[in-house]
Amino acid sequence: MKDIMECTDDYLMLELSINKAVRVDLTYQPEETMSHVDEQYPYVEYVTKVSLGYQKLLNFINNTEGECIIHGNCPNCKEATYYKVGRGYELDKEMLSLVLRSYVDEQIDCEDTYIPDPDFEMRNKAETLVRKVKFFDKKFQCPKCKEVYRASFALEYHEKLIEDVYDCEIVLIKIGQYPSLQEFAIIDFKGFNKALDALKIKNDYRNAIRNHIDGDNIAAYVYLRRIVENIIMDSYRDNKKKLNISDNEFEKLRTKEKISTLKDYLPKFLYNNKEIYSVVSAGIHTLTEQQCEKYYDTIKDAIDIILHQEEARRKELNLMKKTTKGIQSAVSEIES
Ligand SMILES: [Zn+2]
Repeated sequence: MKDIMECTDDYLMLELSINKAVRVDLTYQPEETMSHVDEQYPYVEYVTKVSLGYQKLLNFINNTEGECIIHGNCPNCKEATYYKVGRGYELDKEMLSLVLRSYVDEQIDCEDTYIPDPDFEMRNKAETLVRKVKFFDKKFQCPKCKEVYRASFALEYHEKLIEDVYDCEIVLIKIGQYPSLQEFAIIDFKGFNKALDALKIKNDYRNAIRNHIDGDNIAAYVYLRRIVENIIMDSYRDNKKKLNISDNEFEKLRTKEKISTLKDYLPKFLYNNKEIYSVVSAGIHTLTEQQCEKYYDTIKDAIDIILHQEEARRKELNLMKKTTKGIQSAVSEIES
């Protein structure tokens, strides 16, 4: 079972299968010492907070850290989009409080004060949350076609007493999804996911789509340009030894010349259509919003083709490396 700390909102909403669960660790945070110096009577406060997993769960249920945005295909529009996700359950202030206990110096010396046990408070908080919420739905809407979709979750609290020590956890279970996961999962970058990750441009790619949907195509071009620049720079870093050119010299080249220099190492489509870069740059500097909108689909398709080729290039390179190694070890085994 995955830990909730490893899971993105995208994963929980659109990738986690039905009846699958993630675990919420309930190990509370180490006690923090907070000095209140700017008050009339300075004092020291000791604060213990709920576990990080629990904080993440609260955020997932209630969007405590602000807007929740996920990315996937819209089953209705049949294209990549982003969704704003609503709250799953309105939690009150007390339920949302991250503090398990806090006390000040004076309280330690005073016999009558009860200083709570964080272990008990953590279990109590978790159990109360699960009892109260139990089931919740997270609705999300496609900004383009306004269709509303839904994912449903359940919470369970598990507690075991092992040799006087409580072992407890919350599990978050996906219990439903409408429509089915597959319909969201055909995200149109699935074909070049690895290249997006390797080049660290997944967010740029998503932001381009998001800005386009929101009608801000000039901003979308900024992200598309960044994708092209990243592909060029990454290819330069990987191959500069073979190119016989200094960083300084390369830096001074115009983008078209950079692409020419990297001819053998870039996706063919980018090399054959170097003007793509000029168009996205013009979008940022000289084109109007209307012009940017008009060319968006073409530019986006071009970038998709480039990314597909980049993914294939990386795949082939890896396969060649692996196979060469395999041949070498076979040869050395035969010869020995
Ligand atoms: Zn839609």
